[in-house]
Amino acid sequence: MQIRFNGAARQVTGSCHLLTLNNGFKILLDCGLFQGHGKQSWLENNKWNFKPEEIDVVIVSHAHTDHTGRLPQLVRDGFKGRIYSTSATKDLCAIMLLDSAKIQEKDIEWYNDKLLDKRKKEKKDLEPRVPLYTSEDIEPTMRKFISCPYEKWIKVNEDVDLFFRDAGHILGSATVTLRIRENGSEKTIGFTGDIGRPDRPILKDPIPMPEADYLIMESTYGDRLHESKSDQFDQLLHVIENTCLKKKGKLIIPAFSIGRTQEIIYIMDQMATAGILQKIPVYVDSPLAINAIPVFTAHPECFDKEMHDYMLLDSNPFGFNDLHYTRSVEESKAINSNRKPAIIISASGMMIAGRIRHHLFNNVEDPKNTFLMVGYCSPDSTGAHLMRQPETIHLFGEDKMVRADVVRMDSFSAHADKKEMLDFISNQKGHVEKIMLVHGEYETQKAFKSELRHNGFDHIIIPEMNELVWL
Ligand SMILES: [Zn+2]
Repeated sequence: MQIRFNGAARQVTGSCHLLTLNNGFKILLDCGLFQGHGKQSWLENNKWNFKPEEIDVVIVSHAHTDHTGRLPQLVRDGFKGRIYSTSATKDLCAIMLLDSAKIQEKDIEWYNDKLLDKRKKEKKDLEPRVPLYTSEDIEPTMRKFISCPYEKWIKVNEDVDLFFRDAGHILGSATVTLRIRENGSEKTIGFTGDIGRPDRPILKDPIPMPEADYLIMESTYGDRLHESKSDQFDQLLHVIENTCLKKKGKLIIPAFSIGRTQEIIYIMDQMATAGILQKIPVYVDSPLAINAIPVFTAHPECFDKEMHDYMLLDSNPFGFNDLHYTRSVEESKAINSNRKPAIIISASGMMIAGRIRHHLFNNVEDPKNTFLMVGYCSPDSTGAHLMRQPETIHLFGEDKMVRADVVRMDSFSAHADKKEMLDFISNQKGHVEKIMLVHGEYETQKAFKSELRHNGFDHIIIPEMNELVWL
């Protein structure tokens, strides 16, 4: 069999790996969107390196857009097979893909309007863009999903069995293990998806995968260690007190709608229950994050013991008196006209799209305010730019002075750091024949490769985009 890396190869976006068995059966592992606003991601999102109609099945590791965001496009372009995922991933995909479709429709509208202006000015014949997919493509996509439980071998066909195990990364996230029989022998292939971290809020700890002959492994944080999680609660409380009580400003937290936002709400819920949140209004300004709340509460099978215990005290861990969910654009704008101390949690986490950009625009020039960065930002994103604390930031055609504080908290990361990843695969030592590193910046991957070597793993490759590896 062979595997071709169609995305997340020497980069952290567009996860998509195609496994082709000797008999021609084609399994796609993830079908993620290349995120980013540049021309490069647009081009990558507009082509397939395979024929969608030739794919037999898709297996998705978790609901993040960079792992599932091209599924509707795959279906629209001719994919006829089944999509396997855990039950929570399927439910999150239902809301997430619809949101992604809406964003694309809006983005294209904006782009084409600009294009029209440019056409008039420069008298050039520029091609308008069409969205990768629209809301209408979501329903046919969702009909293809088969939800699977964790920890149960599922028969895909005579030669292929599939096993999902909790990856502890986001709700429903799973590592994928495949047992494949061909030419009279059986091989096990592991795909880590994104590896979570132990002791995180809400979710169970990641569980090491069954031993694999070949392992496709993420490497996002392969060159660093996260700060300790033990003082996360206190650190967050300190930032809240410093911004909202001392400086009387706004605390703005850019956060991924699915996962990070719910974790922060849950921690603030604990603060409110303990009576230490001091009546500061908290706004969750992301329709997708709001839609994800009922999906979380519908999947207690993904919760850890601490969360189950907490729910005996408080049956609604995502709701307290001063918490407001803002759905409409008018409500969102109203938060900005209010100058009183407040906490605003909004998406996107990397600040490349969404309402957070308006909060950045309206609040970055006021030194009373703080931007708390809690997640990964790709190097070319607005979030990463802000973290470098520039003098000015360019937004909506204007240069804004960066006078607000920018604080970083690494401990919220949903990705294992290098030590956690090494712990996670320690059971594979002496067994795994080949490790293929994906989902990481190339420099990080090279550092992680030597770390792996140092820890007794051989035969590690870092495939480049479109590289074909025989197994
Ligand atoms: Zn992820």
